Amino acid sequence: MQIAQNTVAAFHYTLTDDQGQVIDSSEGREPLAYLHGKGQIVPGLEKAMAGHQTGDKFNVDVAPAEGYGEHHPELVQAVPREAFQGVQDIQPGMQFQGQGPQGVVNVTVTRVEDGQVHIDGNHPLAGKTLHFAVEVADVRQASEEELVHGHVHDAGGRDQG
Ligand code: ZN
Repeated sequence: MQIAQNTVAAFHYTLTDDQGQVIDSSEGREPLAYLHGKGQIVPGLEKAMAGHQTGDKFNVDVAPAEGYGEHHPELVQAVPREAFQGVQDIQPGMQFQGQGPQGVVNVTVTRVEDGQVHIDGNHPLAGKTLHFAVEVADVRQASEEELVHGHVHDAGGRDQG
Protein backbone atom coordinates (compact mmCIF):
# COMPACT_ATOMS: atom_id res chain seq x y z
CA MET A 1 0.00 0.00 0.00
CA GLN A 2 1.25 3.45 -0.85
CA ILE A 3 1.17 6.42 1.48
CA ALA A 4 -1.75 8.62 0.47
CA GLN A 5 -4.63 10.58 1.95
CA ASN A 6 -6.31 8.62 4.76
CA THR A 7 -3.49 6.20 5.34
CA VAL A 8 -1.52 5.84 8.56
CA ALA A 9 2.21 5.69 7.93
CA ALA A 10 4.87 4.80 10.47
CA PHE A 11 8.48 5.67 9.77
CA HIS A 12 11.94 5.86 11.25
CA TYR A 13 13.87 9.02 10.64
CA THR A 14 17.08 10.84 11.32
CA LEU A 15 17.01 14.61 11.05
CA THR A 16 20.28 16.44 10.48
CA ASP A 17 21.21 20.06 9.89
CA ASP A 18 23.40 21.57 7.15
CA GLN A 19 26.51 20.55 9.08
CA GLY A 20 25.38 16.94 9.33
CA GLN A 21 24.70 17.19 13.06
CA VAL A 22 21.86 14.96 14.23
CA ILE A 23 19.01 17.13 15.54
CA ASP A 24 16.50 14.37 16.17
CA SER A 25 16.13 10.68 15.47
CA SER A 26 13.67 7.88 16.09
CA GLU A 27 16.53 5.45 16.68
CA GLY A 28 15.84 3.28 19.70
CA ARG A 29 12.18 4.29 19.71
CA GLU A 30 9.00 3.15 18.04
CA PRO A 31 8.64 4.52 14.51
CA LEU A 32 6.68 7.75 14.32
CA ALA A 33 3.10 7.10 13.18
CA TYR A 34 0.96 9.82 11.64
CA LEU A 35 -2.25 10.25 9.70
CA HIS A 36 -1.24 11.34 6.19
CA GLY A 37 -2.71 14.53 4.77
CA LYS A 38 -3.55 16.18 8.09
CA GLY A 39 -0.49 18.37 8.54
CA GLN A 40 0.80 16.35 11.48
CA ILE A 41 4.36 16.42 10.19
CA VAL A 42 6.12 19.33 8.48
CA PRO A 43 4.68 19.97 4.98
CA GLY A 44 7.88 19.26 3.04
CA LEU A 45 8.29 15.88 4.68
CA GLU A 46 4.62 14.98 4.30
CA LYS A 47 4.83 15.74 0.56
CA ALA A 48 7.90 13.54 0.22
CA MET A 49 6.22 10.64 2.06
CA ALA A 50 3.37 10.40 -0.46
CA GLY A 51 3.60 7.38 -2.75
CA HIS A 52 6.15 5.51 -0.65
CA GLN A 53 5.51 2.09 0.81
CA THR A 54 6.78 -0.17 3.58
CA GLY A 55 10.53 -0.71 3.36
CA ASP A 56 11.26 2.37 1.24
CA LYS A 57 14.29 4.38 2.27
CA PHE A 58 14.83 7.90 1.01
CA ASN A 59 16.39 11.23 1.83
CA VAL A 60 14.64 14.56 1.55
CA ASP A 61 15.82 18.13 2.10
CA VAL A 62 13.10 20.42 3.39
CA ALA A 63 13.50 24.18 2.99
CA PRO A 64 12.46 26.38 5.97
CA ALA A 65 9.25 27.51 4.22
CA GLU A 66 8.11 23.87 4.16
CA GLY A 67 9.66 23.06 7.50
CA TYR A 68 9.40 25.12 10.67
CA GLY A 69 9.15 28.45 8.90
CA GLU A 70 11.54 31.28 8.26
CA HIS A 71 13.48 32.85 11.09
CA HIS A 72 11.87 36.17 12.13
CA PRO A 73 14.42 38.59 13.59
CA GLU A 74 11.63 40.65 15.22
CA LEU A 75 10.89 37.69 17.51
CA VAL A 76 14.36 38.01 19.01
CA GLN A 77 14.20 40.49 21.88
CA ALA A 78 15.82 41.57 25.08
CA VAL A 79 13.54 42.25 28.04
CA PRO A 80 14.42 43.53 31.51
CA ARG A 81 15.09 40.88 34.14
CA GLU A 82 12.23 42.40 36.19
CA ALA A 83 9.74 41.12 33.61
CA PHE A 84 10.36 37.63 34.96
CA GLN A 85 9.03 38.13 38.46
CA GLY A 86 8.81 34.98 40.49
CA VAL A 87 11.45 33.21 38.45
CA GLN A 88 14.47 32.62 40.68
CA ASP A 89 17.20 31.59 38.33
CA ILE A 90 16.89 32.32 34.63
CA GLN A 91 19.15 30.20 32.47
CA PRO A 92 19.67 29.93 28.70
CA GLY A 93 17.47 27.19 27.28
CA MET A 94 14.55 27.88 29.62
CA GLN A 95 11.21 28.30 27.89
CA PHE A 96 8.37 30.64 28.74
CA GLN A 97 5.03 31.49 27.24
CA GLY A 98 4.46 35.06 26.20
CA GLN A 99 1.75 37.05 24.49
CA GLY A 100 2.48 37.78 20.83
CA PRO A 101 0.51 39.55 18.09
CA GLN A 102 -1.06 36.23 17.08
CA GLY A 103 -1.67 34.79 20.51
CA VAL A 104 0.50 32.77 22.84
CA VAL A 105 4.08 32.24 21.73
CA ASN A 106 6.74 30.03 23.25
CA VAL A 107 9.98 31.88 23.79
CA THR A 108 13.36 30.42 24.62
CA VAL A 109 15.94 32.23 26.72
CA THR A 110 19.17 32.49 24.73
CA ARG A 111 21.29 34.66 27.03
CA VAL A 112 21.12 36.57 30.33
CA GLU A 113 23.36 39.60 30.51
CA ASP A 114 23.49 42.98 32.28
CA GLY A 115 20.00 42.68 33.71
CA GLN A 116 18.58 41.84 30.30
CA VAL A 117 17.04 38.54 29.33
CA HIS A 118 17.48 37.75 25.64
CA ILE A 119 14.59 35.70 24.31
CA ASP A 120 13.81 34.13 20.94
CA GLY A 121 10.21 33.42 19.91
CA ASN A 122 11.20 31.50 16.79
CA HIS A 123 10.85 27.75 16.67
CA PRO A 124 14.32 26.35 17.42
CA LEU A 125 14.41 24.95 13.87
CA ALA A 126 13.04 28.06 12.14
CA GLY A 127 15.19 29.18 9.21
CA LYS A 128 16.93 25.82 9.00
CA THR A 129 16.94 23.43 6.07
CA LEU A 130 15.94 20.03 7.40
CA HIS A 131 17.69 16.94 6.06
CA PHE A 132 15.64 13.81 6.70
CA ALA A 133 16.72 10.23 6.17
CA VAL A 134 13.52 8.20 6.24
CA GLU A 135 12.69 4.50 6.35
CA VAL A 136 9.04 3.61 6.01
CA ALA A 137 8.12 0.98 8.62
CA ASP A 138 4.43 0.48 7.93
CA VAL A 139 1.55 1.79 5.84
CA ARG A 140 -2.08 0.92 6.49
CA GLN A 141 -5.53 2.30 5.86
CA ALA A 142 -6.74 4.59 8.63
CA SER A 143 -9.78 3.35 10.56
CA GLU A 144 -13.01 5.33 10.34
CA GLU A 145 -12.59 6.29 13.97
CA GLU A 146 -9.08 7.59 13.35
CA LEU A 147 -10.35 9.70 10.46
CA VAL A 148 -13.12 11.14 12.64
CA HIS A 149 -10.73 11.85 15.49
CA GLY A 150 -8.03 13.15 13.15
CA HIS A 151 -5.24 11.20 14.84
CA VAL A 152 -3.62 7.78 14.98
CA HIS A 153 -4.79 5.14 17.43
CA ASP A 154 -2.55 2.45 18.91
CA ALA A 155 -2.48 -1.20 17.81
CA GLY A 156 -5.50 -1.97 19.99
CA GLY A 157 -7.53 0.78 18.32
CA ARG A 158 -7.37 3.02 21.36
CA ASP A 159 -6.55 6.68 21.69
CA GLN A 160 -2.91 7.19 22.54
CA GLY A 161 -2.38 8.91 25.84
ZN1 ZN B 1 -8.99 9.04 18.94
